[in-house]
Amino acid sequence: MTQEELFKVLVAHCKEYGFIFPSSEIYDGLAAVYDYGQMGVQLKNNIKNYWWEAMTRLNENIVGIDSCVFMHPKTWVASGHVAAFNDPLIDNKDSKKRYRADVLIEDYLAKIEEKINKEVAKGRKRFGDAFDEAQFRATNPNVLREKAKYDEVHGRYLKAEEANDLAEYKQIIVDCGIVCPISGTSNWTDVRQFNLMFSTEMGASADASMKIYLRPETAQGIFVEYLNVQKTGRMKIPFGIAQIGKAFRNEIVARQFIFRMREFEQMEMEFFCKPGTEMEWFAKWKENRMKWHVNLGMGAENYRFHDHEKLAHYANAATDIEFNFPFGFKELEGIHSRTDFDLGNHQKLSGKKIQYFDPETGESYVPYCVETSIGVDRMCLAVLAHSYTVEKLENGEERVVMKIPAPLAPIKVAVMPLVKKDGLPEIAQKVVDTLKYDFSYQYDEKDSIGKRYRRQDAIGTPFCVTIDHETLSDGCVTLRDRDSMTQERVKIEELRDIIEKKVSLTNLLRNL
Ligand code: ATP
Repeated sequence: MTQEELFKVLVAHCKEYGFIFPSSEIYDGLAAVYDYGQMGVQLKNNIKNYWWEAMTRLNENIVGIDSCVFMHPKTWVASGHVAAFNDPLIDNKDSKKRYRADVLIEDYLAKIEEKINKEVAKGRKRFGDAFDEAQFRATNPNVLREKAKYDEVHGRYLKAEEANDLAEYKQIIVDCGIVCPISGTSNWTDVRQFNLMFSTEMGASADASMKIYLRPETAQGIFVEYLNVQKTGRMKIPFGIAQIGKAFRNEIVARQFIFRMREFEQMEMEFFCKPGTEMEWFAKWKENRMKWHVNLGMGAENYRFHDHEKLAHYANAATDIEFNFPFGFKELEGIHSRTDFDLGNHQKLSGKKIQYFDPETGESYVPYCVETSIGVDRMCLAVLAHSYTVEKLENGEERVVMKIPAPLAPIKVAVMPLVKKDGLPEIAQKVVDTLKYDFSYQYDEKDSIGKRYRRQDAIGTPFCVTIDHETLSDGCVTLRDRDSMTQERVKIEELRDIIEKKVSLTNLLRNL
């Protein structure tokens, strides 16, 4: 199966087992809007808890807030979103389809990179152990030709981006012969800027109403509450404010399932520090956030940093943590050193002094800020994509198992009486009563035990507990492990501790 086909299978699995549904599906859905089902919401909540506790409980100097989606419209003038939160768009006149011009060029560049990598892979196969990749890349004529093409287009693209030169974007698309995947033609319109913020009206009458935006990021809620939190919490610099909440962007290229949605959720933390110390904090937060990811056990090799070549005008350092999604390494989280850009602009536009008085030095200053920003939905996708596994069993059958990191699994334990009679359901109920205060669980007495195990595998339940006739005499049950499928007999009283060890969020946090 190709990666693309595998991805389709994953999307279908997510729907079939209640993780994620297309929104308003009975009306044929709404593009790039998805709902979380009964399993998805638990996975999402577990991810949010892991982040929230890691931020606000493990760091004495980080507190959380919950600000509103609606904010005063001036917020978005100060943040730069009204003027510059734009995507460059281009339409194909034949198919009438709209694309992001920068994405068309980036996809073209990615294809060249793919060609180069294929050549390198061929070389490796041909030369075996004697293969010297650096030398091959420096001398192979096919690689050199493709590399020259890449460098030329990449150079032009960076310059166009820097100068915000929309005509040059179009020229690159034309010169590279990029065609619309639907119509196959290069009959393009000019490139135009398009603002990504959704707007609506607030107020009863048309005259008195005010145009307001649905926030495109949660961070500004933190900046406008900076003074309140600092004062009422008697916070001393350096300190951070964390927030989880919805954000809205009118994304044009909305694809790849929950990777890019129009309504999504962010977990953002703004860390305020003394000007001049921001690089030190930037380095610390890079390390800290990578640790948070790797701690989940999904393989350190599946994450990498991508330092930004081109920095936004307000940033003096920026990096992405990229994850190895089924469609390649892509941004999962951003870490940005934003200087005093946001607080400084809010101070200017509001006329309110937003400064920190340092009691030790007697100086006042607008704090600098390092931001960590991760999409909850992208994190869900990373977990779901990594966990989806198809295994061949010894008896020739296949099992689909979601190897979700146990502390994030929606259901921690399934309790199953072997048969629906002989007093086994009653004992199973008692087992449920001993476990339900600590763990999310499912009770299942329908179908064969094999089928029930498969259902739990498909939603990633780490443990299944089976009550059989022997339980009546020895008080033991069979505990089956999702990943190894091993089964052991354990006493009912021991269940809680054994399960706890593997699924506990506390233990996960302790390892950070
Ligand atoms: P991209 O370049 O992929 O559009 P971005 O650089 O615009 O992302 P940021 O503004 O830095 O993203 O937002 C921080 C995080 O929010 C991203 O790392 C991502 O996890 C998440 N995010 C941003 N846009 C979306 C979206 N449309 N759908 C889902 N998650 C998103």
